[in-house]
Amino acid sequence: MPTKAYAAQSATSPLAPFAIERRAPTPLDVEIDILYCGVCHSDLHFARNEWGFSQYPIVPGHEILGRVTRVGAKVTKFKPGDLAAVGCLVDSCRTCDSCRRNLEQFCTGGNVFTYNGPDKYTGGMTYGGYSEKVVVDEAFTLRVPKNLDPAGAAPLLCAGITSYSPLRRWGAGKGKKVGIVGLGGLGHMGVKFAHAFGAHTVLFTTSEGKAADAKRLGADEVVISRNTDAMAAHAGSFDMILDTVSADHDLNAYLALLKLDGSLVLVGVPPNPQPVAAFSLIMPRRNLAGSLIGGIAETQEMLDFCGTHNIVCDVEKIRMDQINDAYERMLRSDVRYRFVIDMASLKG
Ligand code: NAP
Ligand code: ZN
Ligand code: ZN
Repeated sequence: MPTKAYAAQSATSPLAPFAIERRAPTPLDVEIDILYCGVCHSDLHFARNEWGFSQYPIVPGHEILGRVTRVGAKVTKFKPGDLAAVGCLVDSCRTCDSCRRNLEQFCTGGNVFTYNGPDKYTGGMTYGGYSEKVVVDEAFTLRVPKNLDPAGAAPLLCAGITSYSPLRRWGAGKGKKVGIVGLGGLGHMGVKFAHAFGAHTVLFTTSEGKAADAKRLGADEVVISRNTDAMAAHAGSFDMILDTVSADHDLNAYLALLKLDGSLVLVGVPPNPQPVAAFSLIMPRRNLAGSLIGGIAETQEMLDFCGTHNIVCDVEKIRMDQINDAYERMLRSDVRYRFVIDMASLKG
């Protein structure tokens, strides 16, 4: 099916209209008319080849929420008219150790990301959610709680699960002091989840103007990370710090804030390696770790948690043709706190 989309044709070209082809649904597929697609900083890294493995053209977008229009004969989860969502993954081998543990993001048999992944149906690359519709195997679709605002729920599919999963895994909760670094898409969800889990939540930001918002979102304390005295006041006190920063920054400054056996967990992916001093880790014993989105089952768990606790992302809706401006604003940390593309603007 011919489908309108927006693509980057090279690392230096702005995103522009591009016609793609979506497959007719197979018996296991769900066809989704996209209502909203969130704008993740990874979309920008990919569009501009900042990680060095982009294959053009790239149609970004992995925070997809829409209405089911058709389902294959064997689909049981959805019927036409239902809300459905798709995150960062559209397939995996389903048999490797990771897949059996519901960790499809770490599939060793070959998983397929929603864009810039090998598309076994077309022989080309997958195209993401900056498009009118998408066709996805139901095993990689998610149900969206009906009480959640659809535009605010879309970014849960990446920003939500990427902050939820490590906070759960590293035990953010009552009695724990948890730091979130960066108040962007991932960071503002990190603050909401850490607060909802009952942790004492501290937000580190370079943007003084975000302090009041951080408190409103659930932070108990806000630290301006450029203020070395304010940073030093928290030395050796954190159980866990979740780092969502997309640009080069000093990891040692955050490692110094961890207590014995505390963990700095990276989810942000600066384009360059960040130096770590051995002393930052060995005195006292500390952990440096990373986390990648979450598996499908955990993503559904996160969505259901959001439904129960009425949690959505704080979003600014944009038209599809505003995407290049939105990228520039994201680079200036000027997003409160996730751009979401209203896909009606592409269809009209
Ligand atoms: P975002 O909305 O642009 O937020 C990033 C935040 O980092 C900014 O709002 C800013 O917060 C802070 N920041 C930016 N430049 C900085 C600098 N030079 N020094 C210190 N802080 C700075 O981006 P996002 O969508 O949340 O994504 C964040 C990162 O996570 C990206 O690298 C993205 O690719 C990555 N990511 C990883 C996963 C995963 O599975 N691991 C999933 C999704 C995204 P303040 O204004 O508060 O300082
Ligand atoms: Zn993302
Ligand atoms: Zn697998």
